[in-house]
Amino acid sequence: MKRELVDQLLSELASFGLECSKDQAELMVGHLVLLIEKNKVLNLTRIVDPSDAITLHYVDSLLPLTIPNVKNHGCSSFMDIGTGGGFPGIPFGIMTGSQGVLVDSVGKKIVAVNEFLSELGLNHLKGVHGRIEELARSNKSSQDIVLTRAVAQTNVLIEYATPLLMKNGLLVVEKGNPSDEEVEVAQRAARLCGLTLDGCHSFDLPRQLGHREILVFTKTGSPRIKLPRRVGMAKSQPLGV
Ligand code: SAM
Repeated sequence: MKRELVDQLLSELASFGLECSKDQAELMVGHLVLLIEKNKVLNLTRIVDPSDAITLHYVDSLLPLTIPNVKNHGCSSFMDIGTGGGFPGIPFGIMTGSQGVLVDSVGKKIVAVNEFLSELGLNHLKGVHGRIEELARSNKSSQDIVLTRAVAQTNVLIEYATPLLMKNGLLVVEKGNPSDEEVEVAQRAARLCGLTLDGCHSFDLPRQLGHREILVFTKTGSPRIKLPRRVGMAKSQPLGV
């Protein structure tokens, strides 16, 4: 079974032009095995069919690496905000070898993520428990790339990520199908935060498993407002609406 999953992952990634070694693919399948086991006692994913999970978690998490300005952006450090069971941070960290911090506000999820990292020997990645709005205070301008998948509206994610990003750093937001309104609001929020939308990239997952949009923003300037705001403000008084 593991062999088949490794082959499926390598072939689906190759269909997007992504080169992955067998060792890297085996690490991702190793993570999937641990995730499915842990999911029996802790809700980390709804996708429990291993073959679907290869596409919907691993291939999906790695789609940003097909985008030239993400692929070619020097990345010595990245942060995955709202990582859950480790997505997209674990696959991204395995593929890039970059130092990564995987954050979630649910402590049990971070305990599980750190167990996975330790069992897989992924010493360049670490899970950190906390709310991203609070962690932003002590990690200002520290990240080359902030990644996030399925966590909140894009304008909220822009507000969360801005203080964490270095100048010219990238915010990569993975979405199912954001509405035109969400993208317009996000662009207004981005202007307030000193970010510029570089592009909105569309993908169809293999085996008709879904459509994805990935929005990439660059921190080109300084925020026009003081960030981070108090916890809860990003959602109660959202920017750009
Ligand atoms: N990114 C993962 C994925 O794609 O499988 C998990 C997505 S899950 C729907 C959203 C996760 O974001 C949850 O685990 C939740 O605890 C976390 N989260 C939401 N708001 C957060 C915040 N302000 N700070 C840190 N984590 C947050």
